[in-house]
This record gives sequence, structure tokens and C-alpha cells, in this order.
Amino acid sequence: MTISSWKDEATEKSIVGAITIDEPWRLIEKFSTLTRLSGSADEAEAVKYITDKLSTWGVPHTVHHPTCLISLPGPSTLRTVGENGRSFTVKTSSFSPSTDGKEVEAELAYVPGAQAADIGDLLGASRPIESRDLAGKVVITEGLGIAARGMDFAGSGAVAAIFINPGERIHEGITTTSWGSPDLTSLGRVPEIPILAINKPEGEELKKLLQSGPVKVAFSNQVDTGWREIPVTVAEIKGSVVPDEFILLHGHLDSWHVGISDNAVGDATLLEIARVFWANRDKLARTLRIAWWSGHSHGRYAGSTWYAQTFALDLAANCVAHVNCDSPGCRFATEFRDVAWTAEAASLAQLAIKDVSGQDSSGDRPLRAGDCSFGNLGISSYFMGLSEMPKEVARAKGYHSVGGSGGNIEWHTEADTIELADKDILLQDIKIYATALLRGLNAPIVPLDYRDAVREMIAHIHGYQEKVGGKFDFAPSLNAADQLNEAIDRLYAYAESLSGKTQNDPAVQRVNALQRMLARTLVTLSYSQDGRFRQDPARGIPPVPELSPANEMANVEEGSDQFYVLRNDLTRAQNDVVWKLTQAKNQLEGKVL
Ligand SMILES: [Zn+2]
Repeated sequence: MTISSWKDEATEKSIVGAITIDEPWRLIEKFSTLTRLSGSADEAEAVKYITDKLSTWGVPHTVHHPTCLISLPGPSTLRTVGENGRSFTVKTSSFSPSTDGKEVEAELAYVPGAQAADIGDLLGASRPIESRDLAGKVVITEGLGIAARGMDFAGSGAVAAIFINPGERIHEGITTTSWGSPDLTSLGRVPEIPILAINKPEGEELKKLLQSGPVKVAFSNQVDTGWREIPVTVAEIKGSVVPDEFILLHGHLDSWHVGISDNAVGDATLLEIARVFWANRDKLARTLRIAWWSGHSHGRYAGSTWYAQTFALDLAANCVAHVNCDSPGCRFATEFRDVAWTAEAASLAQLAIKDVSGQDSSGDRPLRAGDCSFGNLGISSYFMGLSEMPKEVARAKGYHSVGGSGGNIEWHTEADTIELADKDILLQDIKIYATALLRGLNAPIVPLDYRDAVREMIAHIHGYQEKVGGKFDFAPSLNAADQLNEAIDRLYAYAESLSGKTQNDPAVQRVNALQRMLARTLVTLSYSQDGRFRQDPARGIPPVPELSPANEMANVEEGSDQFYVLRNDLTRAQNDVVWKLTQAKNQLEGKVL
């Protein structure tokens, strides 16, 4: 048995075997009557449903009420002005600037856009528009208008942007790239102009009108943006051997409309795991914390971000891993594709999926999305979504790419109702979560392999080296990473000699603390650049972001102004990377510097 393949089959059988679909399904039926906008009365009722259950079973829990910046889209209008003018159905987005219901008239201008090919695209960076003068115009383009896309027209002088959604339904969404409620570093990460979304047939109609001459439109929108209290519910099941070490299992409670597939199914998963793990708490070595966030959909992960900052020092010292639960158990989601995991957790995650479902899985680095608010802190992670609709099935149904709901296009719409949850798929997904959690909670040596994290980092740095050619030398980074990898090899050889010892054996605890130190170095370096206690923006973040100016370096001419600036930048960034990798190696070897 290697470190990442550790399992205790008898305990797993009794705990995972106790999971049923009854309680999860009761929650889903209840939540199908609740429109859980962040900070709303319906959401408070959802919190009460969960806390009543926890109280009945005796699970210790706390409901926090932080004040966060929340933005709820209100009504919006769009009409063509003139003799044959008519109105169109549009929606505005969370954090869109608002006209406060006043109509604004302007000429329409079409800028060709592109629909997202996949979720990475959907949540990627903005694409600045350069080609033409858009001053004073209402721009219409293809896309969802969410994430960084709302920033595409910054500085263009346009007065609004209308995004033509890819299907019949208009998807709700959020446009700010400030991760959680803003601080000084993240102010100004909101779009400058009102954002509207329209469905494909009506969007195409507007495009057609433009073909026969100028079109004047009038639009209005209302968005209720302000600081308000939101509920953050956290249950805690104390470990019986090393209670300070914990795994954070989490998912968002708030939703667009009744949000069954996004994310009542995840809330149900968390509740069932709370019930069963509490009943078996004497069999858990480490602590399990379970958090239901608000502020995900309408505060860009405001609840999890608040938790990450409020409990930052505890998380940084003691959190073994965080496990996100968003949109498991959806209709037609029969395969495990593009599952999110940090490299060191890949083996653990894949083995748990295989042991429960019999299926192979594929996955990749977590995107900068979905309550993964713990990357700056440097915390390892597995899962966000889990089961997913096979691509052929989506293609046969004519589905476009969406950002959740297992690939169902009802995602973020009024149609995300109970039909989207699948009892059998959900039950299996809950068992996968439970299995992967149990192994993390009970393995004497935490089953995460940080050599995989270093190898992934080395591969990305090699990629940067290839891009820049002879214009910059990444050898010092590669060297430091190689040396760290060798030191981790020695750590794991030693760790394997500890097999048979318990989780609270001092030697075992020391190895696990060293693993957490490695996570704080490798995850932080690999996923963030704004610092351990800040939040990078909600946009595509390249791997080892400090070294990513290599992408620009690839295209500059040697000897140009920009070349020298980039060379300075990369030299300073590389110093940071080498220093941190070397410090980690030294700590493994018991050296001070
Ligand atoms: Zn979600």
C-alpha cells in the first residue's frame, strides 16, 4: 500500500454502507420550494431546515452572520426605438452597474463574440475588444456575460453590453471579478457598464435588424447591491485522535431560483455526510468541518471568502484539505470527467471514485471558481463538481457548454428544478465523497502525495521555458523544484517506515505537519500571486502565476523595452519561487535557512 492508497475497508464498509438517499431527498423536496437568494428569507428557511436536522441528531454547529457585499439583480428591459419598435426579454447580472430603472437610449453595435467551448473558457480571463469605436453604443455580442466577460468592454466607451446566450433560456450570473467582498487590492474589479443577457432567438433577431441599417435601443436595469448579513452554517464533528487536524467539506446553500442541481444536491450531500459521520464519530481520527455557504452566487463566494479570512490562521496551520461539493448527483451525469483536484490529491480522488463506482476518472487543477477560496492559503483540495454528463450525450441533445449542473443546460435558470436530480447518481456521488473523506480523516499519514504537486509544477515551468526559448532561463526554479522533490522522496521513505503507528504518534504528527507545510508552499505558489492572506481575482489564473509573464515574453522582441521589463519581472518572480521551494526543502531537512 502506498501512502495515497491507504484504506480501512471494515470502517468504510460500515460508514459508507449507512448512507441512504432518504434524508438527501427530503432536503431536495424542501429546497424545491425555496428561492435561496443570498441573505433572503427563503435562504434563512433553508438554513433552519439544515440546523433543525443537525440539532435533532445532536451535531454541534454554528450559524455565523457576516456582513458581505451582495448584489441581487432586479428587473431589466430592452426595446427597439422607432415605428416598429418592440420589447425583448433580458436579464441583468449580479454586480452589473445599474440605471436604477431609468431608460437609456443608444445605438446598437454588434461585435462578434464566441460562446465558451468549455467551463475553463467560461470562467477565463476577459478578452479586450480593440477593433472599433464603441463610444456611446450598446454593444451586442455572443457569450454569457458572466465572470470576467463583463469586463471585455472596459475602456471602450460603450454604455452597455448585451450578451447573447447560447440557448433558449437566459442564464443568470455574476460579473464581478473581485473574489468575495472587496478589500483595497480588489476594488475596481467590477464591470464599468450595465450588463444584460438575452436568449439566442431574440439576440439573433437584433443582429438581423442591424443588417438593414442602424438600430436604436432603449434599455434599463435595476440591481440591488449593498452590504448585508448572510448566513454561514458550520457543523463540526471532532476527531477522536487528532482533533486539531481537520478537513473542510463545503458547498453553497444560496442559489439562482430553486437551484436543485446547483446546489440543493450538494447541500443534501453535506447533510447526509453530517448525519452518518456524526453517528460514527468514534471511528474518525481527524475533525470534519462541514460548511454551507451563502454569498456564492450573489457575492462571488463571499461566504467562503469570509470564512477563509476569519479563520485564516487556523486553516493555515491545521487544515489538511478542503473538499468542495457543487452539483453532484445530476441527471445524465454518468461519468467522471474533468474532476477538480490539486495534483497531490489526484490518486486519492481517483481511487475513491474507482472503488465506489468501478469507473476510471479524469481530472485537472481546480479552476479559479466555485468557493475554492483556500488556494491563496495553500490548502490541498479534491472535488468541486463530481459526476458529469458524457460529451456524446450532451452533443446528441444539442446542449451547449454550461458551468455546472453536471452539464444540464437548465443551469442558472428557472428550469433548474427537481427533475434535474437523479437519486441513483446522487447516492453514488455521496458515497464517493464519504469514501474520499474517510481516507483523509483516518489515514495515519495523510494520503496526499506532494511529489505529484512538484512534478506538476516542474512540467509547467518546462512549458514556460519552451515558450520563452533563450530569452529567459528558468533553470534555477527547475533546480530548486528537483531538489525539493528529492527531499520529499526521503520524507515519504521515512513515513512508510511509520506504518502501523497511530495518527497521534509524535513522528506521524510531525510528518503530517511537514505535509501541510509543503501544501502551503506548493499550492500557494501554484495557484496564486496576490499573497497568502489575500484573494486573487475570479478569472483564469495561469499555473505558477508569478512565472506566467513568460507567456508575454514569448512574443516580445529581444532588446525591446518590454523585453527588459519582463526580464526584470521574471527575475524577481523567480527569486521568490526559488526561495520558497528551497525554504520548504530546508524545513524537511531540519535546517533553518
Ligand atoms: Zn454551484
